[in-house]
Amino acid sequence: MSGHLQSENYSLRQQLESLLNEARRNESKMRRFDQLQRQLIGADSLPELIRLLLSEYKLAFGVEFVALALVDHEYEIARILERECDKTECGGLTLHSSTTPLEALYRDKQGPNLGAFDAIAHQSLFATAPGVIASVALLPLMRHGELIGSLHFGSADPGRYVADCGTDFLERLTEIIAVCLENALSQERLKLLGLTDALTGVQNRRYFDHRCQIEVSQARRHRHPLACLLLDLDKFKRINDTYGHQTGDEVLMSAARVIQTQLRVGDTLARFGGEEFIVLLPQTDMHHAIQIAERIRRCIEEEEIRTPTGQALSLTISIGLSLLPTADAAAESQALADRMLAIADKALYRAKHEGRNRVVCAERQPTAPDDRMSAFSPAQWLKSLRKAVLATLNLLKRTLALSK
Ligand code: GH3
Ligand code: MG
Ligand code: MG
Repeated sequence: MSGHLQSENYSLRQQLESLLNEARRNESKMRRFDQLQRQLIGADSLPELIRLLLSEYKLAFGVEFVALALVDHEYEIARILERECDKTECGGLTLHSSTTPLEALYRDKQGPNLGAFDAIAHQSLFATAPGVIASVALLPLMRHGELIGSLHFGSADPGRYVADCGTDFLERLTEIIAVCLENALSQERLKLLGLTDALTGVQNRRYFDHRCQIEVSQARRHRHPLACLLLDLDKFKRINDTYGHQTGDEVLMSAARVIQTQLRVGDTLARFGGEEFIVLLPQTDMHHAIQIAERIRRCIEEEEIRTPTGQALSLTISIGLSLLPTADAAAESQALADRMLAIADKALYRAKHEGRNRVVCAERQPTAPDDRMSAFSPAQWLKSLRKAVLATLNLLKRTLALSK
């Protein structure tokens, strides 16, 4: 074989080898892509999906930095994340109330935007990157022709993302991510519907039970007081009987609205059943809880409520108030929550019994047997000392009498 043929043969072999290597790399990339895709589709909540996007892609494809920006017009995503996850799990996520800042990233080019890191254009997107970023990929997340977010990859390798490299793989990835985000948001909306009372729009009993567990554990962990109000509309049956159920429903809606206006962002209001509502006031002592309950009672009394025919009707509410019992450190949280509710219920019963349209608080929080001493006042202590001395004297007298 001539030398020329030999060198051509060698060159062809090298090309073949390089093509085979490329095919192997692509195969491995497709396998990792397939696995990531399955994980994204399988994510069972929005926080889980966001966590996967921010952590798994980095691991699977060896990218130094991944960040996600989402458009959140109604602060819906912010509320979901606040409710369901720890803030630290979503590092790398930013939420925007409008599409404007993200649209600016794709002004010059529709679709993925790849190239060298540009300090002026990209600094804010990669501000929290752990090291030097040399090349970036900015990927628009689109649904139904609208920008819903933007995914940002940063690499220390200047050759990783270059302007003219193929983006089929990245485009496919962003399409899947956009669909997954849309699905996860719809799921969250459905979940929320299952936790909301259909008539009044406040939370339902199911949500309250879940929230109560969280609030009780937090109150115990941080040693904060937790107050509970049980509210029951007075003589509500009469409103139904006089004006009909439709008017009754509207009165219930107004009452829920009025109560909500008197609460802070972190408080919980739920419909407990029928014409009863329940409120949890975290970090609120008895003194402040009474003030809030009084404010609610007054606002309901002063609210101008009219029937569909324009007739003014008067409405009042009775409120029972309790604090989470704190003395029994060993008790189960659920048992303490039950006790808090039972005490509020007793107080509400008294409010009804004593004439309605009033706030009654549990006078004394029951203490666990072990904690009774710590709950004693000096007067109570003197009283029991006196009782013990008298009992001892009596015993002495009887002993002396016997020995006579
Ligand atoms: P009290 O002051 O002792 O609480 O008297 P009340 O009439 O409010 O209490 P009672 O338990 O006798 O009646 C509650 C009424 O609330 C009876 C029920 O028909 C009505 N109710 C419960 N849920 C709804 C609802 O969703 N819509 C309407 N319109 N009425 C409701
Ligand atoms: Mg009732
Ligand atoms: Mg009632």
